[in-house]
Amino acid sequence: MDSADSGGPDAAASSVSLLGPAEIRDLAGLLDLTPTKKLGQNFVIDANTVRKIVRVAKVEPGDTVVEIGPGLGSLTLGLLEAGAAVVAVEIDGRLAAQLPVTVSQLAPDARLTVVHDDALRILSLPDEPTRLVANLPYNVSVPVLLHFLEHFPSIRSGVVMVQAEVGHRLAAEPGSKVYGSPSVKAAWYGSWRTAGQVSRQVFWPVPNVDSVLVGFERVGSGLDTEELRVRTFEIVDAAFQQRRKMLRQSLSVVLGDSQNAARTLEAAGLPPTERGEQLTVHDFLAIAKASLG
Ligand code: SAM
Repeated sequence: MDSADSGGPDAAASSVSLLGPAEIRDLAGLLDLTPTKKLGQNFVIDANTVRKIVRVAKVEPGDTVVEIGPGLGSLTLGLLEAGAAVVAVEIDGRLAAQLPVTVSQLAPDARLTVVHDDALRILSLPDEPTRLVANLPYNVSVPVLLHFLEHFPSIRSGVVMVQAEVGHRLAAEPGSKVYGSPSVKAAWYGSWRTAGQVSRQVFWPVPNVDSVLVGFERVGSGLDTEELRVRTFEIVDAAFQQRRKMLRQSLSVVLGDSQNAARTLEAAGLPPTERGEQLTVHDFLAIAKASLG
């Protein structure tokens, strides 16, 4: 992991300029950058969208925000404008190297630390973040979110921009058509809500999917111990791999056979004929507890 710091520890953002289409074009030209789909590189070119994300996330002076995938710095500058200290984790070496330069020009007094690494591998950060705010790379948005919630308990809340389907899934309640494994796993850590659509036109290049904002508030430190989290998530994965099947069948893979599965479900106070899409995260936790005896 490489990291670079810009601005002293007592620095606060004074005047900050945000990036628009012309600045994004210039920066991309300077870096000879062709955005890649593989890394989900769709950069925000609209300052109003950036300020909306920062407002919805309730970022305040004194916050330490972790941003995953800062790209050319559109959202980073908005976070710095609000007076937050930012730790930005970027996998693309050219972008990670350019960001402190851009920030030193457009937000000279701001406090930014850039970590050049894969967000999925990060286990420690130079500062303890209290919020997570990001326009996430779409192909890894759920694993990245779950990874950060698991490894950084100091993160109490956040707002992320994700592909619309993923956002609705994260915030879905039991019984909804889109309720699935990401919904239950996200609910382990706290409460989730969708917080507005985002036009495709605010990105360069324009993506071929719609985006939404999703906000979360962490509740406690997760529902239970790490052992029970791992077991609960195994059971959740099995339940949604065969979501049309009754739980006594879908869970037979992880609970022995269908008879054992039925016994465990009864011990957890749940009908073995139920389907995973009806269960809350608390129900899945009860099954995990019953399965461990
Ligand atoms: N935040 C910028 C914005 O709003 O304009 C860029 C957002 S773009 C959707 C996603 C960014 O995440 C890109 O800069 C990409 O290089 C970066 N990225 C992709 N995969 C990553 C990973 N595994 N770890 C860290 N950054 C990643």
